[in-house]
Amino acid sequence: MRISISNYNDGQVVGYNLVLLKGSIDTADHSDGEPATLGRSLSTESCSSTSSSDSSRWNVPTHFDCGSIKTFLKNFDRHEKYELSLKIVRNRFILLIELSEGINCVFFQDETGKVIKEFRIKFLPSSNDCYVKPLYIVCSDSYPEGGNDDENFRLNQRKIHLGLKIIQALYAEKLFEWGLSRRTFTLVNDSSSCEVIQIPRTTQEVRELETKHLWDLLAREIRANSRIWDTRCKYVAFMADPWKPQRAEKLENSPALAGGGLALIGSDFLQVWSDQFQNVLKQLGDESPIDVQNFTFGSFSRNVGSLFSASLGGLAHEIGHIFDLGHTEGGLMGNQYHRIDLCLSPLVSYPKSVVHVYSADDERQIRPKVCLPNGHIAEDCVSLSFSCATLLFFHRWFRSTPGRSLPETGPVLTKNTISSNVGLTVIEIRDLDNGTILKSWTFDRVKVRYEFHMGKSTIPSDQSVVDVIAQDFHGNILKCLA
Ligand SMILES: [Zn+2]
Repeated sequence: MRISISNYNDGQVVGYNLVLLKGSIDTADHSDGEPATLGRSLSTESCSSTSSSDSSRWNVPTHFDCGSIKTFLKNFDRHEKYELSLKIVRNRFILLIELSEGINCVFFQDETGKVIKEFRIKFLPSSNDCYVKPLYIVCSDSYPEGGNDDENFRLNQRKIHLGLKIIQALYAEKLFEWGLSRRTFTLVNDSSSCEVIQIPRTTQEVRELETKHLWDLLAREIRANSRIWDTRCKYVAFMADPWKPQRAEKLENSPALAGGGLALIGSDFLQVWSDQFQNVLKQLGDESPIDVQNFTFGSFSRNVGSLFSASLGGLAHEIGHIFDLGHTEGGLMGNQYHRIDLCLSPLVSYPKSVVHVYSADDERQIRPKVCLPNGHIAEDCVSLSFSCATLLFFHRWFRSTPGRSLPETGPVLTKNTISSNVGLTVIEIRDLDNGTILKSWTFDRVKVRYEFHMGKSTIPSDQSVVDVIAQDFHGNILKCLA
């Protein structure tokens, strides 16, 4: 029996502590033949639809029986050791592991207790003075500690913290899928750091507010709160009290809203989120029925697992907006965010060579593939576009740049030319109404571009006014109309 990890190298150092390990198990006698994602004919299955019938088509057979293999995680500095749940489908597996600072070792053991694989990974927290902080919003007629059920509030705090750490890990993986090195945002590193804000509106008044007005109100409250307001912080606000969000965005009718430095989302779906990382993969596969009509993100979901996936994906999408991402036709920033469970499936895996690939142009696009129940292979439909991935890669919140002063002069638009002293990374033309990326250009350090001319062909002919987004190598972003 041979166990291989496909997305990390042995001994690799990571800057965040929840990590997704993917790999395969080769046994002497595996009747499935080649690993599921390799060696079969490629098909161009599309996953562009978001209807519930399509969701069921994408439900893949799963089981959690890991046979005779057991996995353990040991931290050498803390002398801790505990068993991990290994999710295997066919000969593919996925592990979600929470690392302690220092060197961590994953052991795979056979039925006799013999160690058949050791895999080391080191957690060295990344230092970025720009960070993300969760907030828990309650109304003026609610208890300030987050409701009259303290235990429930503490449970929700843990769920929020774990959910954000999963999203943190997934963003790192999404950059890696484009051949960029893993980078992600920094999270306030404490599960009790979810701060409560009480807003000057009653539960009834909030129920009647449109999403946009609630977002405006909350943004004002945060700015006026000297204990919380920080220009280096972006906020993810969970509305604790019952709230029926209006459909705020045309593109995917997302029951949430984000922009600037604030993402606003409900919290009713936390009922189906897990507060223990060992349970996340199992919970995502939970097909227990649920009355989805009562839940935010309920329209696409019919069971516990799919509601967990839709709400976690919805939050990941909104977090993309606070990092200045626009909308794309599909993928995480389009209408497939609700299938973020696919990113946590063993059936989505990388080509064997992926860990050795660096960012040379011709070696990019090492996109993960999904093996469908019918044996066909499709692209991962929860991907980021390359311009989105590039924008994040150079974003201030994704880089370790402690001590640098904010703000700094960024790209400027003069007449029809965008220029930057340090070089441009991304130019995007976006639809003014819905933020959809209509055109994009990305540049690298090999051929540095200091100027970009906005010619007639740059702006689609059916658009009179568009949003222009330009980013430089220091992560400064210009947003203007053209
Ligand atoms: Zn959106």
